[in-house]
Amino acid sequence: MNIILLGAPGAGKGTHSEMLVRDFGLKHISTGDLLRAELKKASPVGLEAKSYMDKGSLVPDAVVMKLLVGAIAGIKHGNGFLLDGFPRNESQAGMLQEELASRNMNIDKVLYLNVSKDVVIKRLTGRRICKSCGAVYHVLNMPPEREGVCDKCGGDLYQRPDDTEETVLRRLEVYRKETEGLINYYKARKILAEVNADLSRDDTYGLILQKLGKK
Ligand code: AMP
Repeated sequence: MNIILLGAPGAGKGTHSEMLVRDFGLKHISTGDLLRAELKKASPVGLEAKSYMDKGSLVPDAVVMKLLVGAIAGIKHGNGFLLDGFPRNESQAGMLQEELASRNMNIDKVLYLNVSKDVVIKRLTGRRICKSCGAVYHVLNMPPEREGVCDKCGGDLYQRPDDTEETVLRRLEVYRKETEGLINYYKARKILAEVNADLSRDDTYGLILQKLGKK
């Protein structure tokens, strides 16, 4: 089962990726996570990506493709993989298609997490992440027991620099201009399944399982 999770920033792609990986043993490939890891290492790729990420713009396709191809090359045939945050435009979708075809692989399902703008702004500006273990909290909906401290490992919580309201609005605009067209792209290929992502995490996940024929 090879899946793409498509949706605006804050639709819950990361959260549902984690749940799908846990339940089906898929390999999780998040280009945002791969880029943030490069940034942390201060590698040339990370340094190139930083200015785009800080602004909420897309990192150039060539940079992202290099990371993606590396991740796909590391996949062992088995349970499948899940792409989170990739592709972000039609050119990336085309390159993905070619890369997979050359490895005799394909995408089985594109799950489109449909979320409204108000929900995204509330979710992202309140999101806090543990520096040590990556656990995700929300200042209102899922606060930690002690403010600023991770319940799971005691690590410090931080706000992603691109989760401020100004940058969230810019990311939404970039999504609308560059990524939204992929909904029709995959609809035309008859592999798109739409899910209401305004609901609670568990309700949305229930819908995802239905679309995957697992419920
Ligand atoms: P994400 O964690 O998916 O929200 O991504 C965070 C940031 O990383 C985005 O705002 C982009 O700057 C960059 N990014 C992640 N995935 C891609 C991609 N497929 N293409 C271009 N830029 C990306």
